[in-house]
Amino acid sequence: MTKRAIIVGAGAGGLSAAVDLATAGWKVDVFESNGEPGGKMHQRQVGDVGIDGGPTVFTMHWVFDELFKRAGAVFDDRVRLTESRRLARHAWTDGSHLDLFHDIDQSANAIADFSDEGNAQGYRRFCDDGELVHNLLRDNFMATSQPSPLRLGYRLLRDGGLKSLAVAPHQSLWSALGNYFSDPRLKQLYGRYATYVGSSPLSTPSTLMLIAHVERQGVWCVDGGMRALAHAIADLAMEHGAQFHYQSTVRKINCTNGRATGVTLASGETLAADAIIFNGDSAALSDGLLGDDVVKSTRTRKRRERGLSAITWCINANTSGFELDHHNVFFATNYEREFTTIFKSRSVCNEPTVYVCAQDRVNGKLSTEGKERLLLLINAPADGDHGAWTRSKLDQQRKNALDVLSRGGLKLAFSEADCVATCPDNWHQRFPGSGGSLYGAASHGMFSSFTRPSSASRVKGLYLAGGSAHPGPGVPMATLSGSIAAQRIQQDAA
Ligand SMILES: Cc1cc2nc3c(=O)[nH]c(=O)nc-3n(C[C@H](O)[C@H](O)[C@H](O)COP(=O)(O)OP(=O)(O)OC[C@H]3O[C@@H](n4cnc5c(N)ncnc54)[C@H](O)[C@@H]3O)c2cc1C
Repeated sequence: MTKRAIIVGAGAGGLSAAVDLATAGWKVDVFESNGEPGGKMHQRQVGDVGIDGGPTVFTMHWVFDELFKRAGAVFDDRVRLTESRRLARHAWTDGSHLDLFHDIDQSANAIADFSDEGNAQGYRRFCDDGELVHNLLRDNFMATSQPSPLRLGYRLLRDGGLKSLAVAPHQSLWSALGNYFSDPRLKQLYGRYATYVGSSPLSTPSTLMLIAHVERQGVWCVDGGMRALAHAIADLAMEHGAQFHYQSTVRKINCTNGRATGVTLASGETLAADAIIFNGDSAALSDGLLGDDVVKSTRTRKRRERGLSAITWCINANTSGFELDHHNVFFATNYEREFTTIFKSRSVCNEPTVYVCAQDRVNGKLSTEGKERLLLLINAPADGDHGAWTRSKLDQQRKNALDVLSRGGLKLAFSEADCVATCPDNWHQRFPGSGGSLYGAASHGMFSSFTRPSSASRVKGLYLAGGSAHPGPGVPMATLSGSIAAQRIQQDAA
């Protein structure tokens, strides 16, 4: 008899799980509160243009190649990508600039010109170690359904021998970076990769240097934005029979004799299933937002354990003074202070580092005339359930961000109607239980990666997929988590 799976949420993890289960012959129904697939992969309407308001850095192409291949399709036929020759442009308030590339020699030369030969050599060692960490963790951590520190340690020694000591996460990324770079700007630049998993470089283990390696393997711009990626994966799932129900919130996950057996929708309708995947933030379950039956299905997340939130501005603006590329980072002067302000004082620095995604530029070439579509992002504490952001505070923070851009050389001109802000309070509303965290729990401390919920929850029949579950946040990782959950469901059903 055909087995039935219900997936709660059409974010990256829910979508990949839908593809894999539908391909395996399961009857799949996806219930999504929003009006379209994608979750954090979304566009904001700003005047008459749509601007990507969530993820913009597309990496780990292989994850999507493999997902589409398992479903009998070719990813590159469905999603048009252009590889970014430059990974990003970086600017500092003192007027210095550095472009980085995936070619190591090209980046090392750029670093030698920007800084000195010692830092260029440090960069080469950093690349070697980042690659080693990545290769050891890819199969031994990312692809497993339930990692344990002991099992991982055994496998690393088996596969990597003494070299695997390089991945020992006893040092913070920040202090490890001092072994490679004497130039504080480079320490800042590579420390920033911790924010890709919602964490502070001061507290995250040095193993996260692997993120820089992942980016060096390739960064692509998605034609139509990341929203187009979400639609392509949803289309693939539908071709295999999955059904998507939008504007359909699941209010409750129901259990019978301790096993998850169905859901109740906001409309009051109750549906039964053999397996349920929850793709929202796992904290929503432990906070009781999906009912008492599943409140013990995951561990609770304390406020101080949450990963970063963000304040973003989607702006349609005229730009001048700085030649933007697709990805640009404008660094503030005191990086350590930014993170202690966020994680300890639970506030945002007056002088924040600003990421700018110039969405109409690919490899430096601007495809429009006049105004261009920008996403500005600064990090913020995930206190969206504490209602911290008034209009005037947000306006002040925008002024601070624009000031950092201006000191880095970039001037923006736009009208109020061409700017839409999103703050932690808004993220919390969109992603219930998250507090506004965009990445689940922060990866702080040696064992944090092992405390993330695995694909199988503590309640039988209920599985987890998404950035708050193993193997962690980011579009490709959340996509992997959905596939891992689908695999686990099939194993348990066999
Ligand atoms: C501003 C921003 C920038 C980012 N930058 C990058 C980047 O450059 N590169 C990158 O790889 N990653 C980036 N990320 C992170 C990345 O977007 C996420 O890790 C990933 O998309 C999370 O996917 P997910 O599977 O956890 O689902 P989510 O995107 O969290 O979606 C979950 C879905 O579940 C739905 N849902 C929840 N509860 C219910 C319910 N009860 N009933 C029905 N539906 C429900 C929600 O509506 C939502 O659509 C960024 C995120 C943000 C917000």
